Amino acid sequence: MSELEMMVARLRTMGFLKSEQAEKAMLTIDRAIFIPNEYKSLAYSDNAFPIGYGQTISAPTVVSFMLDKLELKPGMKILEVGTGSGYNAALISHILGVRGKLISIEILPQLYDLAKKNLSKVASLLPNNLTMLCMDGSEGYEKEALYDRIVITAAMPSLEFNSPFVKQLKKDGKIVAPVGNSWSQNLILYDNKTRTSQRVLSVMFVPLVGKGGFKPD
Ligand code: SAM
Repeated sequence: MSELEMMVARLRTMGFLKSEQAEKAMLTIDRAIFIPNEYKSLAYSDNAFPIGYGQTISAPTVVSFMLDKLELKPGMKILEVGTGSGYNAALISHILGVRGKLISIEILPQLYDLAKKNLSKVASLLPNNLTMLCMDGSEGYEKEALYDRIVITAAMPSLEFNSPFVKQLKKDGKIVAPVGNSWSQNLILYDNKTRTSQRVLSVMFVPLVGKGGFKPD
């Protein structure tokens, strides 16, 4: 068994990667490609790692948990805010398949470039369904709305019913997003069908910045 296969097997044993598509995506997209050289030897451990500019790639358990909560299906239209290393975008793109569409937004030009470079290394494994944008995604991306799912990978100050993200969601859409400050955050699952929010996990993400995010001190 390769180290990647062992990582995926561990996640399965822990009860993550409930869908076959998510498991397949994790086995196909090698996390090591998205990990900076100095941490490559630890690529399959359950750790978040710095990717530069004060940002991080999340731990595999957190990534898998978010994928499970999103309940992604091939053909869906998804918005991701916070491309970072591009790892999560690669997994989502793989799950969505040729009929799906993923818009992934990154605010930092340096990380947008890094993600582009990383994603070019797995391009042959991905369907042509990913659009990357370098801009402030803190109020979503109205141009391509409505979305089946919105996933935000940086902590938002709040997620209200009148948020632009909720307005950009299909009637039966869902949002998965960390909400809270640098002391306390919860991963929130918002379901537009029932118009209810659930706290599903205690987490620690870097802050969402920009117009709808946290203001710099
Ligand atoms: N999903 C990423 C991965 O797989 O590597 C990890 C994302 S990292 C935890 C959070 C990212 O959100 C950072 O790259 C950060 O620059 C980005 N970010 C923060 N505020 C943003 C905003 N307003 N719009 C777009 N991206 C933002």
